[in-house]
Amino acid sequence: MKKFNVGVIGATGMVGQRFMLLLAEHPWFDVKVLAASARSAGKTYEEAVGNKWAFDCPIPERYLGMKVLDAEKDMEAIGSQVDFVFCAVSLDKAATRALEEKYAKAEIPVVSNNSAHRFTADVPMIIPEVNPEHLEVIPSQRARLGTKRGFIAVKSNCSLQSYVPLLHPLRSFGIKEVAVCTYQAISGAGKTFTTMPEILDNVIPYIGGEEEKSEKEPMKIWGKVEGGEIVSASGPAITAQCLRVPVSDGHTAAVFVRFDKKPSKEEILSAWASFSGEPQALKLPSAPEQFLQYMEEDNRPQAKLDRMAGGGMSVTVGRLREDHVYDYKFVGLSHNTLRGAAGGAVLLAELLAAKGYFD
Ligand code: NAP
Repeated sequence: MKKFNVGVIGATGMVGQRFMLLLAEHPWFDVKVLAASARSAGKTYEEAVGNKWAFDCPIPERYLGMKVLDAEKDMEAIGSQVDFVFCAVSLDKAATRALEEKYAKAEIPVVSNNSAHRFTADVPMIIPEVNPEHLEVIPSQRARLGTKRGFIAVKSNCSLQSYVPLLHPLRSFGIKEVAVCTYQAISGAGKTFTTMPEILDNVIPYIGGEEEKSEKEPMKIWGKVEGGEIVSASGPAITAQCLRVPVSDGHTAAVFVRFDKKPSKEEILSAWASFSGEPQALKLPSAPEQFLQYMEEDNRPQAKLDRMAGGGMSVTVGRLREDHVYDYKFVGLSHNTLRGAAGGAVLLAELLAAKGYFD
């Protein structure tokens, strides 16, 4: 695979910092440009991040002295140095949508962590193991934007990654209804225990917009490509409650599911064990060998112990048992800033690269 030059827009943020770590040694992607808001522009990466660096390991040496550019004002200079950009910014929806479209229209493909374009019908929202076929809408998106190379591809919300991949291989049994309660880490809000002290000894029963995303985004992921657009699926019905809990990283989901044709426990375990997708078939650098990992112990998965399974890119699951109201219940876990954010976006970019979308 040829090496691609990449830029990170929002490089100073929580997800942006994760990108910097993941890309520091990436075999296909070489970070050439860092960009953020006007507040950071002109500073070195080290100065711009300041005490916001969220990890125990140091900032990779090669980024320390790199000048941070202004994502809006310096777009042309950024475009001249990169093959595509990753984008994770804390702007409102309209501003994010405009920023991403401006890049795509300037022939700079955008692999996005933001939610602004998740429901644009010709923008694919991808979990690479689940719906890689949705990339087929990119040519019609390019036709709408009037571009040859430029396009936007997005990943879904982090909460979904702890239950949608687990439900996906069970769809052959006809999933009728799902109830899910997510227990979400503070890094999902771009926070650490230092910047969110109110979470200590506490659970906060509200994350703005999260329940709607958790119920609605799976329908697009399970949708069909028709006439150059993605038409969302009409079911299964999903009802969600999302809580913020005092965990640094790792979103947990307690899931209840009812089927048309109730499978046996062995059938569910076997569907999980044998499930793999295009990232595994293509041996993409960030693809975990075993995407869905079942844990037999009654007290697993645990965020602290299991979030790094498969380098933070696997989804762990445990406590599968029959339920007297629904058919089954189980507990899923995924790393929200790896599989759920930067890692998921890097895997999506690897899929796009392997399929020639950046050529
Ligand atoms: P964050 O820590 O608040 O970082 C925000 C980043 O956006 C910073 O780099 C900031 O730069 C930059 N920014 C702000 N205004 C900008 C502008 N006008 N132009 C360019 N850059 C600008 O936020 P985050 O947690 O990383 O989240 C970023 C995005 O990823 C959000 O859309 C979020 O919903 C999404 N996301 C987050 C997670 C997660 O687990 N945290 C998961 C999935 C998706 P300055 O430092 O210069 O202000």
